[in-house]
Amino acid sequence: MVVDSIEPFLLQAENEGKSLGEIMIEHEVTIQKVSEEKVISAMKRIWAVMVNSIKQGVKITQKSPSGMSGGNAKKLLDKEKKGKTLSGSSILKVTSRAIGVAEFNSSMGIIVASPTAGSSGVVPAVVYTTAEICKATEEQIIKGLFASSLIGLVCDARASTSGSEHGCQAEIGVSAAMAAAAAVEIAGGTAKEAINAAALVLKNTLGLACDPVAGLVEVPCVKRNGLFAAVAMVVADMALSGIESVIPFDDVVSAMDEIGQMLPCEIKETSEGGLATTKTGLGYKIWLKSSGGRQLEDADE
Ligand code: SF4
Repeated sequence: MVVDSIEPFLLQAENEGKSLGEIMIEHEVTIQKVSEEKVISAMKRIWAVMVNSIKQGVKITQKSPSGMSGGNAKKLLDKEKKGKTLSGSSILKVTSRAIGVAEFNSSMGIIVASPTAGSSGVVPAVVYTTAEICKATEEQIIKGLFASSLIGLVCDARASTSGSEHGCQAEIGVSAAMAAAAAVEIAGGTAKEAINAAALVLKNTLGLACDPVAGLVEVPCVKRNGLFAAVAMVVADMALSGIESVIPFDDVVSAMDEIGQMLPCEIKETSEGGLATTKTGLGYKIWLKSSGGRQLEDADE
C-alpha cells in the first residue's frame, strides 16, 4: 500500500477522535498483519537505540577521523548546565542532543535513520526533549514516534527522503517535519495540529542544498541536525497555539518534490557545489585525499 497522502489519516483521526500516532499504529497492525503488541514492541526497540545514541553522542570529546566534527554536543550541554543561555535551556538541550546523535553517527556509532543517517539526530532529540518537558509516559513517546513515521512515509512516497535525489530539504526538512509532528503528539495535540506542525517546518526548508564537504556527512550535516531540532520544537509550539499552515501538508510535500527535481545535481550530495566547493571545503577534500585524515595521522604517531 502506497501511503502518499496524509488526508485519509487525518480524516480517520478526526472521525474516530484519535491522535495521529494511534491511527498509524492501527495502520501498521493492518498492513503487517501482526498484533498491536508486536508493532509497539518493535518501536520500543527503535526508541532504545535512539536513546543510546543521544546518551553516547553528548559525551563525545574526540574529533571524528576527518577532524570536521565531534565534541560540539558536549560543549553546548556544558553551557546549558552553567545556566546562562540566550535561547533557553530546552532549546540548548535539544540542539545538543541532535548534534550528539549526528556526531555519534560520524564516529560510526549505531543510530536510527530517521529518515536517513545524515538526519538521524532530529527526531530522537526532539522526542527525548519533549518527553522530558511533558513528563511523558513510554506510551506517549511511542505514539509520537508512530506519528513521526507516518509523516516520513508520506514524504517518501509523495516526494523523496534522499539528499541525492531532492537535496537536504528531503533529509533534514523531512526529519524536522517528522520530529515536529511527534512533539505535538507527545504534548497531547490533535492529528490536525501534528500535521500542521509538519507542514510548517517542511515548507521552511524548501530548496535546502545538500552540499557535504569532502563527501562526508559532517559539514553542514551535524550542526544542521541541531539547528533544525530547535526549529522543530518552536514549530510544535506554533501548531499547538493554533497557528496553521496556509498550504496543506500534502501540497507542501508536492512542492518539495517539484523543487527537488529542479535542483541542480551539484547540490544533490555530489559535493560539486555549495559549501563543498568553497576554498575551505576543497581544502578539506584535498587534505583528506592526501593524508587519509586524522585516522592515518594518528596511526603514524
Ligand atoms: S547536507 Fe546532504 S548529506 Fe548532509 S544531512 Fe543534508 S542531505 Fe544529508
